[in-house]
Amino acid sequence: MFPSFPDRRQLLLGGGAVAASLVLPGTGRGQTVLADTPFTLGVASGDPWPDGFVIWTRLAPKPLDEHAGMTMAPGGVPVTWEVAADEGLAQVVRTGDAVAWAELGHSVHVEISGLDPHRPYWYRFTCAGFRSPAGRARTAPVVGSRLDSVRFAVAGCQQYDAGFYTAYRHISEEDVDFLFHYGDYIYEGRYGDEAKKPRHVVGDEPFSLDDYRRRYALYKLDPDLQAAHASCAWFVTNDDHEIQNNWAGSSDQNGTPPEIFLLRRQAAFQAYYENMPLRKTSLPRGPDMQIYRRAIYGDLLNANFLDTRQFRTDQPCGDGFQPYCSEAFAPKAQMINAKEEAWLHDSLTRPHARWNLVAQQVMMMPMDRRNKADAGYGVINNLDSWAGYPEARQRMVEHFRGLGNVVVVTGDEHQNFAGELRDKGVDGQALAVEFVSTSISSGGNGSDTRPGTDILKSHNPQLDFENDQRGYLICDVGRDVWRTDVRVLDYVDRPGSGVTTRARLAVERGKPKLVEA
Ligand code: FE
Ligand code: CA
Repeated sequence: MFPSFPDRRQLLLGGGAVAASLVLPGTGRGQTVLADTPFTLGVASGDPWPDGFVIWTRLAPKPLDEHAGMTMAPGGVPVTWEVAADEGLAQVVRTGDAVAWAELGHSVHVEISGLDPHRPYWYRFTCAGFRSPAGRARTAPVVGSRLDSVRFAVAGCQQYDAGFYTAYRHISEEDVDFLFHYGDYIYEGRYGDEAKKPRHVVGDEPFSLDDYRRRYALYKLDPDLQAAHASCAWFVTNDDHEIQNNWAGSSDQNGTPPEIFLLRRQAAFQAYYENMPLRKTSLPRGPDMQIYRRAIYGDLLNANFLDTRQFRTDQPCGDGFQPYCSEAFAPKAQMINAKEEAWLHDSLTRPHARWNLVAQQVMMMPMDRRNKADAGYGVINNLDSWAGYPEARQRMVEHFRGLGNVVVVTGDEHQNFAGELRDKGVDGQALAVEFVSTSISSGGNGSDTRPGTDILKSHNPQLDFENDQRGYLICDVGRDVWRTDVRVLDYVDRPGSGVTTRARLAVERGKPKLVEA
């Protein structure tokens, strides 16, 4: 095409740049000019409380380009936001200004307050004359107020190149109070056979802040993921792949010196914060980030979101799926630290609510992983899960003893599992139930049962349910019965799968065992 004469805006921008801050006389931050919408990554909300929630966006006119297409300048870019009481955003009840800092990848996090409890609101942003899509979020009920039901989704493990995010499209159509994300929001590596993948990531394995920002940008361009974020508030927690596979504390998988790995962790945590609807309390400080936190829904649900990566000791016995060695019983082995453990214990034992949710990342139930007939070897454990930390796990189930209202919700396995968390491994009395949610896309299509499941079940009497399809959980919490629906997809290697309810599992308050729903 013959190049046309540049218009005024292009002249102002110096041709190639798509954004510029023009400081006008008498104004502070200046006026931002953008050639394209900066709202390519959608909007999100998180951590609802009784009079508000976090709203999030990130300015990225060219999401995969350097600086996501933003011109870098000090002072940040002004953004306005509005929260409305109606879906059409006609009745605006709160509005304000925010700054998208270059230092934070031009992300915007606003903590809204002054809203009414337990009702939906709609929100959107405006920048340089461009308007974002609208999102919806529901405030939490007043703490301690009588509440008959709460409903939430559980999702995570969304390797982009392993499959499409159709499950998120279905989640966006669920009527839920919130979503719990158990981590693996991005994958740093390209796991699987590249030639067989339904889609592909750009860029090498991330190490720097800009690398991680770009990986998030690619993921967040997905319209199904954007729809799920826009549909409800999320409580997000990270697992391993936001930084590196199976990292633990200050150790990575490769024996990198801790002080070097912590630089990578710092970059990855900053990118995580920038891309998630987190409160300011989660703004990283150096290589540290506050992830574990609590939300109380009326008098019904005390939700505890754990951090099982940042404070854990390195996996014992060489990690992986292996028999125990003596290292697994090291007295100093821990999955969470003493501070987080004391915080959780205090939370569980205060009479907050009828149910205690322990929402976390890796499987807590002991599980013998043998799935071949008479292989001639002993018990095999997943040493990256709580099974690698048997003493710490026993301490954890001690905190559940006598409560009868604890439900553990977990991810990481890329399979659905449900069963009992028992005292002293698999033989003791059940102290809680655990629902392990599958993956959004990681692992590809899957099938109803994996080969060897019968053998696995024969070794694991605590296990009530197993399924190897992609999908998510819907937890419907009533005053006396907690119901968990296992939603599964037929395929993820192409878009368009429907969703079906593979199982309806339930637990009665006071009796930690699974019953027919
Ligand atoms: Fe995963
Ligand atoms: Ca994981």
